[in-house]
Formats: sequence, C-alpha cells, structure tokens
Amino acid sequence: MSLSVVNTNLSSLKSCQTDVATAMDVVTDAAMDLAETEGSERDIQALEKLLLDCARLDEDLTRFSEAVEHVTAQARRQPPEAMRDLKDAVKRRFAELTDALSDADLQRHAKVAAFRESLRSFSSQTNPSASQSTEGDLDDDIAVMQSQINFSCPITQLEMVNPVKNIKCHHHYEQEAAVAAIQRREKQKKKFRCPYVGCDNTDMKQSDLVPDATLRRMIQKKQGART
Ligand SMILES: [Zn+2]
Repeated sequence: MSLSVVNTNLSSLKSCQTDVATAMDVVTDAAMDLAETEGSERDIQALEKLLLDCARLDEDLTRFSEAVEHVTAQARRQPPEAMRDLKDAVKRRFAELTDALSDADLQRHAKVAAFRESLRSFSSQTNPSASQSTEGDLDDDIAVMQSQINFSCPITQLEMVNPVKNIKCHHHYEQEAAVAAIQRREKQKKKFRCPYVGCDNTDMKQSDLVPDATLRRMIQKKQGART
C-alpha cells in the first residue's frame, strides 16, 4: 500500500465528516421544529441522543485520521520493510486515542453545545418566567427582537447565512468569513480581533465559534416573511 493511497482515503474520510456535520445540523433543526410546535420532550431527547451518536462518529473519524497521520508520519522515517505492520499500528494508535474519549468530551462537541444553547435560548424566548403573554404579544416580542438584532456579518457586511457565535464575547459572524479571517491572520502569525466596534476581544479563535441555530432560523424566517 503506498502512502498516496492513504492520503486519498484520508480526504474521503474528511468529506465523510462534512456529511456528519450536515446531519447534525439537520437533527438540530428538527429539534428546533419540534420545540416550536411544542413537540414532546421525549422526541426532543431522542434527537439529542441521535446528535450524541453523530458526535461520537465525528470524534471517532477525527481520531482515526489522527492515528493514520501519526503512523504514516512514522513510516516515512523508516525503511520500507518496517511498513508491513502499518495496519496494526493504526489500530493500536486509534484504540489509544478513542480510549481517552469520554462522554464529557461528546457533551463538549461544538454542535452538541450549540444544540443545547439553541434549545435553551429558544425556551427562554418563548417562556419568559413572568409570562402571561398571549400568542399575539409573543409574535410582537419576536418581531421587536428581530428588528433589534443585527443580522449582518461585520466581516462581509452581508446578511448571515450560517451565523456562528463567539463564546467569549457573544458576537456573531458569518461562519466561513470568520474562519477564513482567523486563518489568514494565523498565517501571518497575528491575532484576529473581533471586528465589532468597541469589543475588547483581541484574540478570536476558531474554537470559540459555535453555530447559532436560533439566529439562523430567525434570519430564515425573516427572509421567508419578505418573499
Ligand atoms: Zn466581539
């Protein structure tokens, strides 16, 4: 087996992970739909379980890629005859990496955290504690909230499609633009400062960004209302 085959297979693993990420977004959307239509708590929990299974798969794929990369990097430094045991070496390394994976790690998975956050912010929007508000008031509230929230990304100046929230300063950006901007600065060995005027977050990290499904839905709804 040549190492270029390994690289091809690794990139198909990565695209598989992209599919898992999409699946997780679909599950989160389905849960939000349920929450909005006051679906049963049990169904929402079932979706959460499904999401955790996806997170497990995603983490396993990441670790498998890491194991393959680790072993192939070692193999490059060794004579060809040492490459016979590559498969076993990958297996061992993968087992080491996945043994260290706990349930708590899955709970911390960005998309699982975003799922919880979405449901929490949804229920706090729709069930304010001193709530005697009628259906009409609620719609008014949401309308006011929508007009107050800025839907445009400070980087692209365009309305966001996939908004992500910065867990440090709670500002929102278009996912792709924010990631690209951070990576561009990283290449120059520089920090990327949050582009919101007056924000004191001077070091934005890619790991601080979590998808904000609630905001994404609000934007989609607003667009739906316009058309
Ligand atoms: Zn900020």
